[in-house]
Amino acid sequence: MSVQILDGRPVAAAIRGELRAEGARLAARVGHPPAIAVVQMGRDPAADRYVRAIRRAFEEVDLGFQLRALSREAPVAELEAALRDLNADARISGILVQMPLPPHVPPDLVPQTLSPEKDVDGIHPLNAGRLAQGDQRAFVPATPLGGLELLRGYNVPIAGRHAVVVGRSNVVGKPMALLLLHQHATVTIAHSRTSDLPALTRQADILVAATGRPGLIRAGMVRHGAIVVDFGVNVVDGKVVGDVAFEEVAAVAGAITPVPGGTGPMTNVMLIGNTLLAARRAHGAD
Ligand code: NDP
Repeated sequence: MSVQILDGRPVAAAIRGELRAEGARLAARVGHPPAIAVVQMGRDPAADRYVRAIRRAFEEVDLGFQLRALSREAPVAELEAALRDLNADARISGILVQMPLPPHVPPDLVPQTLSPEKDVDGIHPLNAGRLAQGDQRAFVPATPLGGLELLRGYNVPIAGRHAVVVGRSNVVGKPMALLLLHQHATVTIAHSRTSDLPALTRQADILVAATGRPGLIRAGMVRHGAIVVDFGVNVVDGKVVGDVAFEEVAAVAGAITPVPGGTGPMTNVMLIGNTLLAARRAHGAD
């Protein structure tokens, strides 16, 4: 049996086409294109690259993009003021705060200030709670939502299967586990304190890696024919690699997402989808 490569690019492209059309309809109705604002504190090459990619993704589908760049040393009040300003700006439908923030920013400042209606990356506790409860009004973090849409794009059956999610962050692992649970998978969440990780991952019909540990998932940890979803984005010797040792795992898996080109291309498309959802709701079109 040869492995199926779950390429995110064609799936992302198809969804992008639909979103462009929807964006144009909304722009005609409201009088301006829906827009996202990205708030960035300080500079670093990886964050700059990510912000540029978001800008490109939004401009490609004729949606608005605004960057609020603050210095790394900016007082907390400045960040708060920027968020309140964007919350109140009717031309901005979605707000994304580039993480991590500098250490002088209290961890609960953004969740407490950001409007949950514009929280298109699902970091607000109201959205996280809604996701946990299976409430359709939740904004779901873009990366795990993209992972789920990728599985859907390839018609991977989820209901009744055992999904093991390795990683429990609030932005990737935990929401992915909840999304799979809502699709009626039986879900196990593993993390750095899990004992005998290989014994657990070998039980997975769907194995999800979201650890930031390059090559953590080896062939011996994967059941023959399993579906393997790799969210990892790690730079090793100047090359982007996932959390899964791709070559050896591809030899045993039934299907696998490549890195790059698997879950990555889906993320910004989901961010666009969430921004349009926020715009529809703000204008009573949902
Ligand atoms: P975090 O560092 O926040 O979380 C990593 C998780 O992995 C933690 O829950 C940690 O456990 C667990 N973990 C770490 N080491 C091990 C181990 N040896 N065995 C088992 N579990 C382990 O990372 P994120 O969730 O933010 O990101 C995960 C990956 O996804 C990264 O590579 C990141 O770059 C990537 N990413 C990809 C995106 C995309 O678009 N595809 C977007 C965002 C992130 P514990 O909780 O016990 O510490």
